[in-house]
Amino acid sequence: MKQNLHTHTLYCDGKDSVEEMVLEAINRNFDGLGFSGHGNNILFDPCSMDDERESKYRNDIFSAQEKYGDRITLYLGIEEDSIGKRFSHDEYEYIIGSVHFLEKNGEVAPIDYSRARFEQILHDWYADDMLAMAADYYEAVKEVASRDEVDVIGHIDLISKYNENNAYFDFEDPAYLELAKDAIDTAILNDKIIEMNTGAIARGYRTKPYPHLQLLKYIQEKGGKICINTDCHNRFDLDRGYEDCLSLAKMSGFQEIYALSNDGFYPIKIEDWNV
Ligand SMILES: [Zn+2]
Ligand SMILES: [Zn+2]
Repeated sequence: MKQNLHTHTLYCDGKDSVEEMVLEAINRNFDGLGFSGHGNNILFDPCSMDDERESKYRNDIFSAQEKYGDRITLYLGIEEDSIGKRFSHDEYEYIIGSVHFLEKNGEVAPIDYSRARFEQILHDWYADDMLAMAADYYEAVKEVASRDEVDVIGHIDLISKYNENNAYFDFEDPAYLELAKDAIDTAILNDKIIEMNTGAIARGYRTKPYPHLQLLKYIQEKGGKICINTDCHNRFDLDRGYEDCLSLAKMSGFQEIYALSNDGFYPIKIEDWNV
């Protein structure tokens, strides 16, 4: 099995067309490829898809399904932003729920846009209190994890995007871990799949996928479900970091990783993943 459900195209902030992504996935022996364009949040994220763009995105994927369906299974998904439009399974085969923005005192700001912007929010909104910022972030994750329509929680610890080498806080600070674990508990309670996501590796911010190893181990201990995704914005990153994901999952005690089929998500043994 080789599958990636978190991918972006020219319809949002990706670099390649749907067809280019499909051809590269076939070339790299993928069994399945899912598209998860950024759902409408146009007020705060100009890269997300407004309704007109979303309808073109859907049609383009339907055409690709017709054209390439005998060579690869293609899935129509969406990445729903915590503060953007909400979607349903009538329209999408799967929905990734993600927090990219924080809201405070009537203001909205992106936590993953750039290091400078991240630092500005941390300073101006939280007086450099990283735990206070993380608390607000994980509260928003919990809200997304409680939504019926969401199947997969996107990059659950995105708040640590710029924290390589413990730049802003200690990844293993018990007070921080408590906040993250609380969000993980909510995700597991609501039967959500938590993704391992290598997106920040491709963009040079991190050397390891989300979630941090401590959190991955916690998800395993609590009986949580995981999938592996690259959140790629470029077809050459379609399977970036997958080997690392498998070995980290194994190291954390997982035996199975979830994949999507036309009948929904199901577990596949780690040794049956061929990345
Ligand atoms: Zn995202
Ligand atoms: Zn994404």
